[in-house]
Amino acid sequence: MPRYVFDKWEHNGRDDSDWYAVVYTSETDKLERIETGTTRFANAHPGTVEATLLEPTEEVKARVVVILTGMYLHALTNLEHKRVYEPEPSELEGKRVRLVQAVKNQKKTSIPCPKCSGSGKWTNPHNSMDQRPCFACKGTGSTRGEKMKGPDGKPVWEVYPEGTEGVVTGTAFYGKTYRNGYNTVNRSNTTAYVRLDDGREVRVACDKVRLAEEPVDQTALAAARAKTLSVYPFFRTAGFRL
Ligand SMILES: [Zn+2]
Repeated sequence: MPRYVFDKWEHNGRDDSDWYAVVYTSETDKLERIETGTTRFANAHPGTVEATLLEPTEEVKARVVVILTGMYLHALTNLEHKRVYEPEPSELEGKRVRLVQAVKNQKKTSIPCPKCSGSGKWTNPHNSMDQRPCFACKGTGSTRGEKMKGPDGKPVWEVYPEGTEGVVTGTAFYGKTYRNGYNTVNRSNTTAYVRLDDGREVRVACDKVRLAEEPVDQTALAAARAKTLSVYPFFRTAGFRL
């Protein structure tokens, strides 16, 4: 089974070194990373395996470009889908989002914003011509007060249907994170504050929102870009792990 070599490198650990190669075999029609040698065992000199590897023919090179282009497009598409459908909390502020399921919030009373006395405006004390939306209430003039209760003393809920859209004004993470990664900020433990077009604000876990836009089809763009890439230095510089 002829194996054509496309890349070789050495990984030096603290005590040992290992040698690797990326090879293509037409039997599997795949690129694979193989270990060609290691200092961990006797008689595992990389030269023994490397001597069996062949330089790729033009035909093999052309086939590998096709395979790499496919991998490249696949990786790009995954990234784009993640950006739109599963945005990270740190990416949300200022973005327009859509609820992917209905969300229920306990209703709160609305009271005039104490910072602007309900005007929604901030006026520069040194220049009365300089007026801007109030920072505290973002220009709405009102702010949330107490949690509302019905006549029966039970909480009053407001339901926002799936598909509701608004702009994220901020995110908040409640809890503690540890450096060992035991608890990290993620989409399910972070709350997004979403201001709807009618001024209402929804509190929602970040994993219940997606961006209110469609993924960009990068296929054509990426295919054009991939053609200009040369094969040999491609593997690690393009971030592929084989
Ligand atoms: Zn205000």
